[in-house]
Amino acid sequence: MPHPATYYDLLDAFRLDGCPVCRLCLAGTERYFDSLNFECINDASVRDRFRAAHGFCRQHAYQWLGQHGRVLATAIIYKDVYTDLREKLRELRYEEPGTFASLAAHLRSRLMGSRFSALTPWLDRLAGRRARVLVGEDPCPGCVVRAREEEKAIEALLDSIDEPGFEKAYSLSTGLCLPHLKRALAAAPHQAAFETLAEVELARQDLLLDQMDEIIRKEDPRYQDEPVGLERGAAGRAVRAATGSPWSRIETDRERLHEEWLPVARVSSRASSATGSNWRRPGRVS
Ligand SMILES: [Zn+2]
Ligand SMILES: [Zn+2]
Repeated sequence: MPHPATYYDLLDAFRLDGCPVCRLCLAGTERYFDSLNFECINDASVRDRFRAAHGFCRQHAYQWLGQHGRVLATAIIYKDVYTDLREKLRELRYEEPGTFASLAAHLRSRLMGSRFSALTPWLDRLAGRRARVLVGEDPCPGCVVRAREEEKAIEALLDSIDEPGFEKAYSLSTGLCLPHLKRALAAAPHQAAFETLAEVELARQDLLLDQMDEIIRKEDPRYQDEPVGLERGAAGRAVRAATGSPWSRIETDRERLHEEWLPVARVSSRASSATGSNWRRPGRVS
């Protein structure tokens, strides 16, 4: 049976830095954004989805503004969004707080940011807040596309992970970020797939741990003159592997700049210690 296009996209992504699933999600979202410039003008159902979602979420809004959105398309989408919001706002009426409102509001402020924050919508209902607060009916269309791409990529990965060539290419890749690894492990269709995912991750973590040990060792004044080796960028790689790649390329470019800055920091740090100064650059993640 022929492989889907995602199979070949994954093979390409294995050769590049970063989580291959994150990379495919970003590429899929970018394709959607490029097409949106035309679809939102010609297709009323596309604009309906934006109205129901109250526009993009924060991450996708800035990805759209920074890279893809043309002025005409943006104006058409957000004219619809605001027209609809204005109607809803005019229809809203003040409601007296319910019996439990003050208690619920107090609990809400205590729970926000805690591991029980998922209870806050229930408290809002108890307090009658949902009737007064404007709530989008649908998720951000960019998030919907991203979730679809994520599912497609993980499914294609798991479908082929026991093919020798594919498995080899995957084992040589950066591996999955932690959020995507968790999803792939949970969805692994058989033991061999599960074990391949775990083994690649353990090997990647071994390498990262060795490199971070090396960073820490070279902070010791006795070893600071040793040249920077493969550990360069390892702490940043560890953070990205645990979190996943950014949702937009703007941030990726910033990270690249950030890594280029590191050798300068180390040279400057050494130069200052050579001149007897205690000055250090503020701690940066390398
Ligand atoms: Zn990922
Ligand atoms: Zn979004």
